[in-house]
Amino acid sequence: MIVYNISLKFNFIITLIIRNSIFIQSDQTILIKKENLTMSTSYNKYLDIEDFLPENRTLVLDYLCPLCKGIYYKPVVDPCGSIYCRKCIEQCLEKTKTCPSGKAFGPQALITIDFITNVLDKLELFCKNKISGCEWKGRLASLDEHIEKECDYQCVKCTNEGCKTILRKSSLENHLGHCDFKKEKCEHCELYLTRVSLPAHLAECPKMKIDCTQSCGIVLERSLIDSHISNDCRKSVINCSYESLGCDFKATRLEVEQHLMENNVKHSLLFFNEFTSINNKIKNLDNKIDEVTKSLATRKKCKTEVKKVFKIQEKVPMEKKKYSEEIQNNGK
Ligand SMILES: [Zn+2]
Ligand SMILES: [Zn+2]
Ligand SMILES: [Zn+2]
Ligand SMILES: [Zn+2]
Ligand SMILES: [Zn+2]
Ligand SMILES: [Zn+2]
Ligand SMILES: [Zn+2]
Repeated sequence: MIVYNISLKFNFIITLIIRNSIFIQSDQTILIKKENLTMSTSYNKYLDIEDFLPENRTLVLDYLCPLCKGIYYKPVVDPCGSIYCRKCIEQCLEKTKTCPSGKAFGPQALITIDFITNVLDKLELFCKNKISGCEWKGRLASLDEHIEKECDYQCVKCTNEGCKTILRKSSLENHLGHCDFKKEKCEHCELYLTRVSLPAHLAECPKMKIDCTQSCGIVLERSLIDSHISNDCRKSVINCSYESLGCDFKATRLEVEQHLMENNVKHSLLFFNEFTSINNKIKNLDNKIDEVTKSLATRKKCKTEVKKVFKIQEKVPMEKKKYSEEIQNNGK
């Protein structure tokens, strides 16, 4: 590595950077060192020599980035004094944790080289989308703004989440109008869904009104259909309401209603039978209660008698004593 130690005026420095990198020290001394231009080629070359107008191509040859081999784009100088495009050296630091010379530092250690940017910014070049048909040419300083704001040939990704379509900026508006990933509001539940997922959602949207699945002619929100079928639908098959009393008629709710109207006598008879059977059961229960009550009364009476006997028994020893004393006294 050859290092020159030169103190120079600004514009003169630029002419000296012929395939070299520079390092500005705090005392304004400028170190220039030769860089090896044969480095890894995996870096994304943003500015090519051919991007510039033919008359500028020899001028830019002196500003080649050792990493991407393109013209410096937003150049920075690293702590070793080497110059790279900002993106190139940042990518290198991220990948290898060091700069190409093996020095480790963070991206905050990179310093923008304004004077190279200023020189290149004045040079005219074609639009990056010249190959697609853009006829724009202008200063490098205006290139980004042209591409971002004006260039109709710039390819952009569709702005809808999930859509992978890449298309010309000029076609974006038209595409957005019918993009499958455009969010649309479900008119029934007001949920926002992509156009592609809307049909699947409509097939199960709980708020969407649908015909009763038993084709009874009723239209209801999908979430209410189950309850309608269990409780109201005239086409649901149900048992006669007198099932528990013995009527085994089973048919659609509509037919059961008809059956109820036509079978008043039959149902009254079933009801009467049930009533009689319950009445008999009540009578039987009454009898049993009577028996139990009687038995309880007898037990109570017995208890009282037993108590009386106990009381008499308690008195026996005393009476016995009294009696024997009397006998003794009479004997004297
Ligand atoms: Zn580069
Ligand atoms: Zn370095
Ligand atoms: Zn353009
Ligand atoms: Zn799209
Ligand atoms: Zn919905
Ligand atoms: Zn129904
Ligand atoms: Zn019945």
